[in-house]
Amino acid sequence: MKNRKLLMIPGPIEFTPEVLGAMGLPTTSHVAPNFINVCGEALELMRQVFLSPTGQPFIMAGSGTLAMDMAAANLIEEGDGVLVVNTGYFSDRFAKIAQRYGAKVTEVRASVVGDVPSADDVEKALKSGSFKIMTLTHVDTSTAVCVDIKKLAHIARSYGVLSVVDGVCSVAGEELRQDEWGVDIALTASQKAIGVPPGLALVMASPKAMEAFRNRTSPVRNFYADWNEWLPIMKAYEERRPSYFGTPAVNLVWALNVSLKQIGEEGMEKRVARHKRISRAFKDAMRALGLKQVPLSDEKSATTLSGVYYPDGTDSSLLKHIGDAGVIVAGGLHPQIKDKYFRVGHMGAVNGSDILSTIGAIETALVKSNYKFDKGRGLQAAAAILE
Ligand SMILES: *Cc1c(COP(=O)(O)O)cnc(C)c1O
Repeated sequence: MKNRKLLMIPGPIEFTPEVLGAMGLPTTSHVAPNFINVCGEALELMRQVFLSPTGQPFIMAGSGTLAMDMAAANLIEEGDGVLVVNTGYFSDRFAKIAQRYGAKVTEVRASVVGDVPSADDVEKALKSGSFKIMTLTHVDTSTAVCVDIKKLAHIARSYGVLSVVDGVCSVAGEELRQDEWGVDIALTASQKAIGVPPGLALVMASPKAMEAFRNRTSPVRNFYADWNEWLPIMKAYEERRPSYFGTPAVNLVWALNVSLKQIGEEGMEKRVARHKRISRAFKDAMRALGLKQVPLSDEKSATTLSGVYYPDGTDSSLLKHIGDAGVIVAGGLHPQIKDKYFRVGHMGAVNGSDILSTIGAIETALVKSNYKFDKGRGLQAAAAILE
């Protein structure tokens, strides 16, 4: 018997047995020839996942927040203008990080939770100030809202502003074509759609972002994240040479190599299509059960996770009932609606039976909470999409 519950939160996610197997390999030296090769390959494979043949990849020991910190530390100098396209909790975090490095931060927000700022509002904000960087949260994990990166990155570039995309909940799940869309930095963490246990911060920087970094006139105000230290290390691994600045997370890099190869075998288009299909199955199921979602429309919804309001007469005790039925989902995160909704992550290696199990557990929990609905309606709606 598998004595564990299905983990359906927006990271960490369920990992493949091959990835978990790599975590258990004997740890080598960080300059062992086989590790140098594995890390060099992982850097090369990152370009395929980010669809960024011209990008400079960085693999660091740390969480997604370090990836955000690294982007800010290396690009921002005292007094630089940063426009934060704010869609929730993690956009707030980017604003705080930018301020820490001395940026003058302006925010453009949607008026209600679940909405995204319009392209017009973003353009107006860009016009009305002087900005070096615009940050975007591709999928805001607190609201399950997704912004149109293609459109907004294009607008940023037309104003000569660097676009920095927090893709922690999107890279390797949502469609993101870094080079084609002119995204200057895309970043993520290992434990989300890229499918590796927590502990790696992953950053891809465009040639324009690297140029802005080289043009700095003041030192990088973060010792650990300084690209002056890490760029030679990343280059050395790609050239299969030994090097050292800080010890890499050897086993995690090994696991990353395995996961990136699995992603490559599936192919990015198929992977994005699978995320869309699973997301649609889940969202249709919630609608069929009469449950409302946080994003205001399907076009503004992520495919890597869903945010669902507790139906009338129920509350966060639903989470415990879902857990008792064998599936772990996450509570609310956005401060304004924290106790009113729950979140379900469906990214990475997720498949149709995972999503059906999750919907089944939610139906079971709804019955326990005395919510009135036609039992099986959610499962039927999802099955219609998955077949
Ligand atoms: C999870 C997440 C983060 C933070 O990542 P950590 O690994 O928890 O530091 C940042 N941004 C988004 C969009 C996320 O989903």
